[in-house]
Amino acid sequence: MKLLIIEDEPKIGGALKRGLIQERFVAELYDDGEVGLAAALGDEYDVIILDRMLPSLDGLEICRQIREAGIKTPIIMLTAKSQIRDRVEGLNAGADDYLIKPFSFEELLARIRALLRRPVDACDNILRVGDLTLDTMNYDVRRGKKRIKLTSTEFSLLEYLMRNQGRVISKDKIIGHVWDFDSDILPNTVEAYIGSLRRKVDKPFAGQPLIHTIRGFGYRIEAEK
Ligand code: CA
Repeated sequence: MKLLIIEDEPKIGGALKRGLIQERFVAELYDDGEVGLAAALGDEYDVIILDRMLPSLDGLEICRQIREAGIKTPIIMLTAKSQIRDRVEGLNAGADDYLIKPFSFEELLARIRALLRRPVDACDNILRVGDLTLDTMNYDVRRGKKRIKLTSTEFSLLEYLMRNQGRVISKDKIIGHVWDFDSDILPNTVEAYIGSLRRKVDKPFAGQPLIHTIRGFGYRIEAEK
């Protein structure tokens, strides 16, 4: 899952980016309001972490412009201020959640996960497709009771497909959400990773495969109906 961080304090921004990458997210960091807004409008992200006070463009204004552009990506606002008025302003501008500095990384992580699971499953961290389960907190993947060992890229790819289950996902979309923007990924690489996922998730098990190729369009994960 790909996160956008717009934060001008290098220490906070750097720590967030490192921590999120360690938690297997793809994270892009911008320290300027205008540049960050351009990224938010120009690319697709799964969650946006937005500082309130930024050079060149205020966090509230960025939030408003993202919503005005019709982008519904969940936004978490970060602020040094603790007044209730600021919180209300942030939420009115279209933010989904609010964190007051200093905050713990664990809390931010919990809130990111809460926002990510909103549309899929309201009550736990486990994604399900048929008898395949993926625990986004413990990195545990199982088909039935059998545990499946995945590399971190395979895990991210499977998580992305499962969060979008039933939908056809293009290779470009997969590249955008599973890999960092500065890594040089070709469509062939996606095919190779889909192949290795199939060898682990589908081939060893009886019954219909879950990962489907839609020729010319992309991939879809879905249980048989
Ligand atoms: Ca700031």
